[in-house]
Amino acid sequence: MQILTTAAALQAHTENWRRAGQRIGLVPTMGALHEGHLQLVRAAAAECDAVVASVFVNPTQFNNPDDFRLYPRLPDADAALLAPAGCTALFLPSVAEMYPHPAIVQFDFGPLERVMEGEHRPGHFNGVATVVSKLFHLSRPHRAYFGQKDFQQVAIVRQLVSDLAFDLELVAFPTVREADGLAMSSRNRRLSAEARALAPRLYQSLQAAAELVRAGQAAPAAVQAAARAQLAAVPGLELEYIAVADADTLQPLTEWHSGRAVVLCLAAHLGGVRLIDNVVIGWFGEEVE
Ligand code: AMP
Repeated sequence: MQILTTAAALQAHTENWRRAGQRIGLVPTMGALHEGHLQLVRAAAAECDAVVASVFVNPTQFNNPDDFRLYPRLPDADAALLAPAGCTALFLPSVAEMYPHPAIVQFDFGPLERVMEGEHRPGHFNGVATVVSKLFHLSRPHRAYFGQKDFQQVAIVRQLVSDLAFDLELVAFPTVREADGLAMSSRNRRLSAEARALAPRLYQSLQAAAELVRAGQAAPAAVQAAARAQLAAVPGLELEYIAVADADTLQPLTEWHSGRAVVLCLAAHLGGVRLIDNVVIGWFGEEVE
């Protein structure tokens, strides 16, 4: 596995692969890799000839300076995990390499970013779209892999690809979970033992809420209230939001619409660590993940 640290090196390598007729897979990450990331890389390796994984803690997508400062950075461990997963090149740029000057262009995804993460983390998706666009331009992947764990991010990137005509296929990969249901996340490393023991309650509350949706008896507001009540019983948990939304438009639901998938998304703080999770319920009532 090659380690590339400059934009020029990434461009040169991927351009060569393209000329040689190789199909390129891109897996953008912020590092501190776990099994969820590695499954994306393995999927890319199975479907593409060359796989670029990027590890870059992107400052422009953090609205909270402490979150940026405390975000785990483990480049050596990441490199050791990526090679056996089938990664061809690790792109590990510095902030100065990715942002030789501050970006002036701003992205606005309209209603898609006025809810959930976009509503609670102002500027977050502008930063995501900026860095993802740069990575797409530099590596020109045939396929780009993103996790459903960041459900709204997938919707935003899908819009980006469509609006700016990026010539690539977006792959949305199901959420990889710990045995107790907790969605894998780089931030889980920062949980105390106590908070880690309580963290599976997030997914449990989503599953219980999804059951209510499937049963078809409760209105969206009642589903939301039930999940809220369940999470209020978790000691030390501060719920930031729980959304019951249309899975395509991400807009909050006041009633169910037949034929439309539903997504339940939440963000919560547990022992000072911000965690997100979601569950998608298909229109026949089945869980999509
Ligand atoms: P991050 O390093 O958190 O920015 O994540 C990099 C990519 O991995 C994003 O597309 C995430 O959605 C994806 N990802 C992170 N955690 C998981 C998980 N538990 N399951 C599946 N994909 C994930």
